[in-house]
Parts: sequence; C-alpha cells; structure tokens
Amino acid sequence: MKLLDSKNVIITGGSRGIGKGIAEVFAKHGANVAFTYNSSESSAQELEDHLKTFGVNAKAYQSDASDFDQAQKLADDIIKDFGSIDVLINNAGITKDNLLMRMSEDDFDKVIKVNLNSVFNLTKAVLRPMLKQRHGSIINISSVVGIKGNAGQANYSASKAGIIGFSKSVALELGSRNIRSNVVAPGFIETEMTEKLDEKTVEGWRQAIPLKRGGQPEDIANACVFLASDMSSYITGQTLSVDGGMLT
Ligand code: NAP
Repeated sequence: MKLLDSKNVIITGGSRGIGKGIAEVFAKHGANVAFTYNSSESSAQELEDHLKTFGVNAKAYQSDASDFDQAQKLADDIIKDFGSIDVLINNAGITKDNLLMRMSEDDFDKVIKVNLNSVFNLTKAVLRPMLKQRHGSIINISSVVGIKGNAGQANYSASKAGIIGFSKSVALELGSRNIRSNVVAPGFIETEMTEKLDEKTVEGWRQAIPLKRGGQPEDIANACVFLASDMSSYITGQTLSVDGGMLT
C-alpha cells in the first residue's frame, strides 16, 4: 500500500519546475495525477506519458489558472475523467520583478491574477465535490518571500502573502467538513529556470542557506505528499517552510 494510493490529485502548473517534480513524486506514491499547463504543450504531453509508466492514471489539461471560467470547466472535466478530486495543489505561478519605482500597474495586476486569483478560482472549483464527499486536502504553494518580503518583488510577495491569509480562512471555514487547507513555502529551489543564472551568484545563495544547498523540486514534493496523505489528517491552516533553514 502506497501513501497516496487511489487519491485523485490536481496540480496546477505541472509542466515544468516544482509542479513537474510534485507530479512525478505523487505518481510514485500511487496518486492519479491531473495536471495543468499554460503553454508548454509538448513537455506536458511527455510528462503525462511518463507518469503513466508508474501504473497510475494521468492527464495533462491546458487551462489558464487565472481564468475563473476555465477553472470551473477544468474541475468538471477532471471529475468526468477521474471520478473525484481528493487533493488540489495550487502551484502555478509567475514573477514580474522590478523595483516599485519601475513596476507597472499591469505587472502588479498580472502577478496577482496568476498567483492569487488562481488559488481562489481553483479552490472554488473543487469546493462542491469536496463538500459532497466530505474530505479534501488543499495545498497552496506560497514562498519564503510571502512571509518575509523581498526588494524588487512587491507584486510577487503580496500575492504569496495573500495565499497564506486565504488558506487560513479556508481552513477555518471548511474544517468542519473535513477539508484541510495548508501552505508550503519554498525557499530557493533549483529548477531549469535557475540553471540559467550565473553559477557564482547561485553558489553565494547556497552558502547563505543553513543546509548549504539549494532545494530540489523533490524536497517540495515530499512535503506535499505528507500534507496530501492521511498522515497529516489533523493538520490544517499551517504554513510549512521548506527552505533549508533560510528563514530561521
Ligand atoms: P516555473 O518553472 O516557472 O513553472 C511554472 C509553472 O506554472 C509552469 O508549469 C507553467 O506552465 C505554469 N503556469 C504559469 N502560468 C500559468 C497559468 N496562468 N495557468 C496555468 N499554469 C500556469 O516555476 P517554479 O519555479 O516551478 O515555481 C512553481 C511555484 O513555486 C510557483 O508558484 C512559484 O511562485 C513557487 N516558488 C518557486 C520557488 C523557486 O525557487 N523556484 C521559490 C518559492 C516559490 P507553462 O509551462 O505552460 O508556462
């Protein structure tokens, strides 16, 4: 018996980076994985095929998480394809960094819409099925930056702090229906994106982290496995930093 055997999971933004890592680790633990992407169609298709090799049900869906109606349709499609939704992981996110002096209204609005409205959209979309079945685990991916703030990321940190307030409110509202809502706050996670950065800069970041390394997508995925599984059935409304001790 695997930890996530027969659990049906939605992961937004699963085509690359952390979301892809979560999808792979969840499939290894026996979960059926429905994941979304915005534009990376070929890597999404590749991942769908790869996940199926673990003997689970897997499907990629093109769906813009920042669009309310698309989120509703996505949940309906997944219910048709998978039968139920046990776990939602809101992972899709973008950055549009700039100092406040140079940050446009559009860059602020876009980041809030993709990072925060998406969490509202998808949570609303899975609410009815989760209420009906009287269980569910919602895991929202925030960031250390949502806890601490960061110069040059006012839009991003506002969206990530908003996710924490939203998640706690959902935990309070839906606890009596056995729907749990928790946050994972990653620190510096090394993905394809960070591979493009200057090695010296990245090494400096690693040395500033108590565990002396950047995180891997699997580190975030393992925390999500715990929060998705019945091992965490008495945990809700919490924010778990997965950051190598960065915020300590
Ligand atoms: P990433 O490599 O840039 O991947 C982002 C994913 O989100 C992609 O699958 C992308 O799909 C998808 N996406 C973007 N906009 C979307 C939309 N409107 N609708 C649906 N999907 C959308 O990012 P990452 O580094 O893995 O980050 C994943 C999450 O962790 C984000 O919420 C990020 O803020 C958070 N985080 C990351 C770090 C880090 O160090 N990497 C640290 C703290 C928090 P396409 O491929 O189709 O564009």
